[in-house]
Amino acid sequence: MTVVVVGGGLAGARTVEHLRGGGYEGRLVLLAQEPELPYERPPLSKGYLQGQEPREHSRVHDESWYAAHDVELRLGVTAAELDLGARDVVDATGARHGFEHLVLATGSQPRPLDVPGAALDGVVTLRTLDDSDRLRAAIDRARRVVVVGGGWIGLEVAAAARTAGREVAVVVRGALPLDRVLGPETAPLFADMHREHGVDLRLRADVAEVVPDGSGSRAGGVVLADGTLLEADLVVAAVGAAPRTALAERAGLAVQDGVVVDQHLRSSVPHVLAVGDVARAHHPFYGTHLRVEHWDNAQHQPATAAATILGRDEPYTRLPYFYTDQHDLGMEYVGWTGHDGRGYDDVVVRGDVGAREVVVLWLRAGRVVAGMNVNVWDVNDDIRALVERRVTVDRAALADASVPLGELGR
Ligand SMILES: Cc1cc2nc3c(=O)[nH]c(=O)nc-3n(C[C@H](O)[C@H](O)[C@H](O)COP(=O)(O)OP(=O)(O)OC[C@H]3O[C@@H](n4cnc5c(N)ncnc54)[C@H](O)[C@@H]3O)c2cc1C
Repeated sequence: MTVVVVGGGLAGARTVEHLRGGGYEGRLVLLAQEPELPYERPPLSKGYLQGQEPREHSRVHDESWYAAHDVELRLGVTAAELDLGARDVVDATGARHGFEHLVLATGSQPRPLDVPGAALDGVVTLRTLDDSDRLRAAIDRARRVVVVGGGWIGLEVAAAARTAGREVAVVVRGALPLDRVLGPETAPLFADMHREHGVDLRLRADVAEVVPDGSGSRAGGVVLADGTLLEADLVVAAVGAAPRTALAERAGLAVQDGVVVDQHLRSSVPHVLAVGDVARAHHPFYGTHLRVEHWDNAQHQPATAAATILGRDEPYTRLPYFYTDQHDLGMEYVGWTGHDGRGYDDVVVRGDVGAREVVVLWLRAGRVVAGMNVNVWDVNDDIRALVERRVTVDRAALADASVPLGELGR
């Protein structure tokens, strides 16, 4: 019996861990394109980018763990094709890796900035440890930084660059950064915080072109669709990520913005599973397929994949969760407000938005569907339980910070 896992990120590393932890005694091969031991990415835009955390801290396990658990870790090996008929993964050297079960954990990759000039030196994206090293060095050298995209990674990079004392502008397509995720009621919390830290937010703005500096080969600024020139010696393209589905597509697996899998994480070919950023999994709680591009999902889905391979019936039911750290603001979010982020009809705030110590709850028909805690700790499990219970909750009690969230909706 052999299980091959393709992708040495968090989801791949946790998959081999849960297989061994669950009693799997067969061969276990982990193919990892990057030369690094599997690592977690959140520090790459936070503590590691700011030079506060050593490289090793981001590792899922140290090197000896893989040998001790009899995992054949193949660093620097890229899976090039899946031969599903022969049950082989063919790597880029042509070598074949046979399997009874295959787990795709290929993650996602930055979407490219699709404008003229995007290939100039000084235009960068952030996904890997090497990217983070390069970005840190570029921030050190830069005077003015333009971040294209006001999502989580863009804002975290903006915070790091401001902390390093650089001039920073963030170009945001929408009315406010994060407004698609947080809605217009709550998005100002982040926008205000970044403005207070001196970020120049360019709203409802699109980048039309990256223009060179005097050298002709390096970025000197970006031109917005309205003709405004923002000078910059560093341009960070943070315009979202795309799932790495090419292998799955070529092999004929069902793919729709992610490898489509059931609640047991089985793809359209049942002995091929997918986990983490690349998986679009059926979520029993929501009755639809979700692709969740967050750490928590890559951390927890592997237990379900391992259970499926080991013949246990343990569907993945965990609610989507993510977190961010920007300047002195720490935030956790649990739940889901629909594919378009508009699946709520009421927002309840408990605490002080101005002081940025606040819990925000999104409701639909009187039930909590999502919640976010900002600089308020040890409440996220209570919010999760409120969402999971799906009961209507007294609005006044919900807004009253003196009533513990854990006592509501029982
Ligand atoms: C800079 C940054 C900051 C983040 N911060 C947060 C945060 O604060 N909070 C949060 O919730 N989430 C955060 N995330 C998201 C989180 O890191 C991802 O959800 C998580 O990394 C997904 O893990 P994964 O294992 O599915 O994919 P990945 O981490 O992308 O790993 C996939 C691995 O597979 C490899 N691979 C791909 N194709 C092949 C192939 N053909 N052969 C072999 N190997 C292959 C890739 O090289 C990669 O190493 C952040 C992401 C980034 C990039």
